[in-house]
Amino acid sequence: MTATTLLEQVTSAEGHKVHDPATGELIGHSPAASAADLDDAVARALRAQPSWAAAGHSRRQAALHAAADAIEAHAEELAQLLSREQGKPLNGPNARFEVGACVAWLRTAASIPVEPEVLLDDESGYAELHYRPLGVVGAIGPWNWPMMISIWQIAPSLRMGNTVVVKPSEYTPLSVLALVKVLNSTLPADVLIAVPGDGSLGKQLTEHGDIAKIMFTGSVTTGKAIIKTAADTMKRMTMELGGNDAGIVLEDADPQAIAEDLFWGAFINTGQTCAALKRLYVPDAIYDEVCQALTEVAAKMPMGIGLEEQNVLGPLQNAKQRDIVARLVDAARDSGARVLLGGDPDAGAPGFFYPTTLVADIDPQNPLVTEEQFGPALPIVRYSDLEQAIEWANGLEVGLGSSVWSSDPERATEVASRLQAGTTWINKHGAIDPRVPFGGAKQSGFGLEFGLQGLKEVAQPHVIQR
Ligand code: NAD
Repeated sequence: MTATTLLEQVTSAEGHKVHDPATGELIGHSPAASAADLDDAVARALRAQPSWAAAGHSRRQAALHAAADAIEAHAEELAQLLSREQGKPLNGPNARFEVGACVAWLRTAASIPVEPEVLLDDESGYAELHYRPLGVVGAIGPWNWPMMISIWQIAPSLRMGNTVVVKPSEYTPLSVLALVKVLNSTLPADVLIAVPGDGSLGKQLTEHGDIAKIMFTGSVTTGKAIIKTAADTMKRMTMELGGNDAGIVLEDADPQAIAEDLFWGAFINTGQTCAALKRLYVPDAIYDEVCQALTEVAAKMPMGIGLEEQNVLGPLQNAKQRDIVARLVDAARDSGARVLLGGDPDAGAPGFFYPTTLVADIDPQNPLVTEEQFGPALPIVRYSDLEQAIEWANGLEVGLGSSVWSSDPERATEVASRLQAGTTWINKHGAIDPRVPFGGAKQSGFGLEFGLQGLKEVAQPHVIQR
């Protein structure tokens, strides 16, 4: 498979038009699955599931490693397609990094041992806990990290003996169709089936009586709709939803030392990342130094067309998201906040670019702070009382990630323990690891992904007791 033929294999003569978000160029058409196609996919996945479960852990582990080998063999083709469709550059923590992460998450899901747990073994009796397959898992994903997030859903589900029907985002269907094509070059027939379509197809998947579990990653609003729809069939669910991650810098932090990690914490994937740093709280004592160090780092980072090797920041994936970022920054400026960098998009240029933007001296209740911007614009809020900063950080209904920045690890850990989030990083932000569980607090969702806990989430616990 060359880059062209992989793209050709997943595009159709007509259907949903997919454009390059950096240039506006037509990449191809995505096929759209009908309601009948979805029913057929679920029926095939249901038929394939018993023999996949019967294959046992060791054969499934080998199959996941073989699938990871197939991704490695097509890594560059996949990265180029991802870059063209999603917009993210090849370099930096972007397209090649995302394809590499698919391999890492597959191999880790394949490698973690899952054993029955002995719960009780004494004169009163014996009890052990097994983790059985659930059946068919429905996976629904977003457009920001389309390949990596699909793998987060697919890899643990397959490892635990489930089969999977995956519905990619309508904004980035080709990336996921190409990934599934490569995975299916080694997997048995029908254990993994992709059904491209929009939210109505996603809804059909969440209503389907033969889907045992929904793995969903996307917005809080859609997550809530899915929970309601899936109630009738009592589906298991993992909900990885939106966030608005706070970072708190402590007075003893070294502005120069943290500036680059702060930058990437906020601007990874041009800010289109669930657990990116989306609001930064900085104490008066070092406010100007942090703003200056961050501005110097940010101003040096090249933004442009993803396929051009020098770029590390790209366009927004779609016009809707670009307009959300523009609206929030304009409103912040109008409210009197100080724009340190960016905030001045070139209206006539092709693509959905929005410049790297830093906004200082902003009111803590400004919408750029309290709403999820999901793009390259970071508000930097000044504080003089740490208790107040912690209160602001915890003051929203979401709680995916958060971070504390300090030269004193013990003090940072103490502050971290008071933040309401699924993960709190110290002196970094968003640094996920396939061995370490990840999930949201509050309205950022429920259920864990990654590690042994992530495998257990796609299994039915079954106690055998005598
Ligand atoms: P979205 O909720 O608009 O769409 C996500 C998916 O849901 C798409 O595939 C869409 O077609 C589908 N969908 C829409 N309506 C549906 C319905 N009624 N039933 C079933 N499926 C439906 O989200 P998005 O804009 O694609 O993604 C951005 C959001 O995702 C951001 O809020 C971001 O923070 C969040 N996100 C969270 C994580 C995480 O791990 N927590 C990771 C990435 C993105």
